[in-house]
Amino acid sequence: MTTLIQNGTVVTATGRHAADVLVDGTTIAAVLMPGSDAAASAAAGAERIIDATGKYVVPGGIDCHTHMELPFGGTFASDTFEIGTRAAAWGGTTTIIDFVDDAALKEMDSLVNEGITSFKLFMAYPGVFYSDDAQIFRAMQVAADNGAMICMHAENGIAIDVLGEQAAARGQTDPIYHGITRHPRFEGEATNRAIQLALVAGAPVYFVHLSASEALERVAEARDQGHNVFAETCPQYLYLNLEDHLGAPGFAGAGYVCSPPLRTKHEHHHADLWQGLRTNDLAIVSTDHCPFCMKDQKELGRDDFRAIPNGIGGVEHRMDLIYQGVVMGELTLERWVETCSTTPARMFGLYPQKGVIAPGADADIVLYDPDATTRISVDTHHMSMDYSAYEGIDIDGKVDTVISKGKVLIQDGAYHGAKGDGAYLRRGLSTYLT
Ligand SMILES: [Zn+2]
Repeated sequence: MTTLIQNGTVVTATGRHAADVLVDGTTIAAVLMPGSDAAASAAAGAERIIDATGKYVVPGGIDCHTHMELPFGGTFASDTFEIGTRAAAWGGTTTIIDFVDDAALKEMDSLVNEGITSFKLFMAYPGVFYSDDAQIFRAMQVAADNGAMICMHAENGIAIDVLGEQAAARGQTDPIYHGITRHPRFEGEATNRAIQLALVAGAPVYFVHLSASEALERVAEARDQGHNVFAETCPQYLYLNLEDHLGAPGFAGAGYVCSPPLRTKHEHHHADLWQGLRTNDLAIVSTDHCPFCMKDQKELGRDDFRAIPNGIGGVEHRMDLIYQGVVMGELTLERWVETCSTTPARMFGLYPQKGVIAPGADADIVLYDPDATTRISVDTHHMSMDYSAYEGIDIDGKVDTVISKGKVLIQDGAYHGAKGDGAYLRRGLSTYLT
């Protein structure tokens, strides 16, 4: 099957230009100058033509941090891989990187050989996912040898638990205390500690879901010194805050319990994160998609915030929410593509198969309509959640058409994919390391 995507504006990490994109089977065969002889002959020979007039043609989104079906706090994240990846497709994301292994140190080498090239460690959640400094340091030493990327959840979980116990003992059990007890300095401290450990081990380190100015400062400082230190942030830390969301009346704040927590609007975390995205101290936007329903799940913590399952679902909305950053003047169109697709591909060993519109790449393509609008709501989303953390947010753009490996998944407001369309991706090593 050959498909020609005509009359669109192709946007890549490095620029935008009018171009026709020829897809042959599962890959991109050519990017052609509109009106050229080559474009005309491609149009004559194509079995299918998709008109992209007025639309941006961008590489499919890559969400490098999701948790489908994650066991947490006596329940499971509410999206299965099937439901979650379908919701992702609705939102223009065609690739996810999930965390499925409980790897022992000795397994890291064989996993790297099987195409699992990044490993997430937790400085938070003592007694659950927590690794102590010795375990972290040893894993970093292994990563320094085999080229894997260590992804770090940097919060001082030991200190957080002290404040959590003290708050609960005082009867401060509402969701907002989840945020108040997870002090931003605890994220800054853990970030710095992980950087120092990584430098001694000689390993790169990638900070997941960075939320606080204190942590961003440590990352920026290390990067200024030339170290292989990278970080991502997530839409919830750009759009949502401690007071209005985690502190929502009644138990509604439970829907915003995630870790690190949403930060106060009275400091400058949100503005700093947007700036970090511009300066590349934050290289990537992922979602840390980890959905739970209010009913039967978030409700587990009605009497104690510490029992609320941690996580927010957002895999469906990342491309829209960060595109809105373009509309708001926070990012360029090219930087949107870079932070949401191209850099995730390069960081996690999927480039140039993914993350770019170029001959030979997988035909994962999104047509994005800047003249249409999207209203985010529980009534219209496709995730398995009974609320939306982004309820009522209006986006000045819309995912129009989504193609994955040459197959049209979303078109004319309908889903055309099928169970089993997805495939496991063997990943190589990060291309950012020298
Ligand atoms: Zn996570």
